[in-house]
Amino acid sequence: MRARIPMRIDSGMPRDQRSRTLSDLRISVIDRCNFRCPYCMPEDEYPRDHRFLSKAQRLRFEEIERLATIFAGLGVRKLRLTGGEPLLRRELPELVRRLASVDGVDDIAMTTNGSLLPGSAQALRDAGLHRITLSVDTLDADAYRKLSGGRGEVAEVHAAIDSAKAAGFPSLKLNSVVMRGINDGHVLDMIEHFRGSGHVLRFIEYMDVGTCNEWRRELVVPSAELRARIQTRWPLRALAANYGGEVAQRWEFADGAGEIGFISSVSEPFCGDCTRARLSADGRLYTCLFANSGHDLLGPMRAGASDAELAVLIAAVWSARDDRYSEIRGLANASARRHVEMYEIGG
Ligand code: SAM
Ligand code: SF4
Ligand code: SF4
Repeated sequence: MRARIPMRIDSGMPRDQRSRTLSDLRISVIDRCNFRCPYCMPEDEYPRDHRFLSKAQRLRFEEIERLATIFAGLGVRKLRLTGGEPLLRRELPELVRRLASVDGVDDIAMTTNGSLLPGSAQALRDAGLHRITLSVDTLDADAYRKLSGGRGEVAEVHAAIDSAKAAGFPSLKLNSVVMRGINDGHVLDMIEHFRGSGHVLRFIEYMDVGTCNEWRRELVVPSAELRARIQTRWPLRALAANYGGEVAQRWEFADGAGEIGFISSVSEPFCGDCTRARLSADGRLYTCLFANSGHDLLGPMRAGASDAELAVLIAAVWSARDDRYSEIRGLANASARRHVEMYEIGG
């Protein structure tokens, strides 16, 4: 039988070609979603009979736990569960429970559209999930319906927030992808609603992820422009980052009503600090959100690779990494390349 190497694996803490360490791992637990957000999984490209990964093609919980342990040995301290919609994965609290016991990991978060959260918030909290990020692009009922591909209701957002609070989660991060002419006019209403609630709204520049959202630069509202609009109503003050490599720029309301954030990957790329790896539900390792392919870990794992061999493989992939797509987006050969779909690696 294959010997398992306990916890620490001696492949060192790899640095990539730009000297970036590996400290975060985003784990997509499923490629399916109950929403069809037009900027991620448009309905016409992903009809109800679309063939997603089968159960056998997906990483099993013990495989995810094993890989997370190996990644922790290489320096990963933060895990984020995502998807598709992670809450569609059955028994997710069981996975959280396993990951919570991985040596070296000190933060486990999840990004979700929240529609299924009321049924599992308490079990996830009890299993050891630390934080939840909820995706909320608008609070306007019609626009919410449209932006979820006709599958979500804004009332579910409020139910999700209430369930997270009742389960004992601290304040939530509420992520909103801002698109010009689509929901940028709803930003002030969202702020009005959440200001003072303790939850942190974060506005994300619309990105050219995947292949099917017909992204155009004119649809991006640069964070500086959005901030200027917000400032005409509520003066803001810049805050220092919580830690090196934090993707959101933090600002606070001058009147003390809390904090908001801006994720400006198009107008102010932060590739220089990017320490995140992504694991797809079928066990591929992606070193960039805009990569066109991933490195198969599931194949070698199921073929009997030892933990040490997998650690060496992952360290080699990371060491070879030279990604900085957001910095070179303007170059024709960069943007023409096919990108992995967002729902495959989860943002
Ligand atoms: N289904 C979950 C959700 O929506 O929260 C998790 C997966 S989703 C792919 C993760 C995040 O990616 C969401 O916050 C979503 O808004 C964001 N996202 C998807 N497509 C995007 C795009 N084109 N630009 C910016 N963010 C995007
Ligand atoms: Fe689903 Fe999330 Fe993509 Fe929307 S953004 S389609 S909720 S995976
Ligand atoms: Fe990281 Fe790639 Fe995004 Fe740059 S473009 S911040 S390298 S994921």
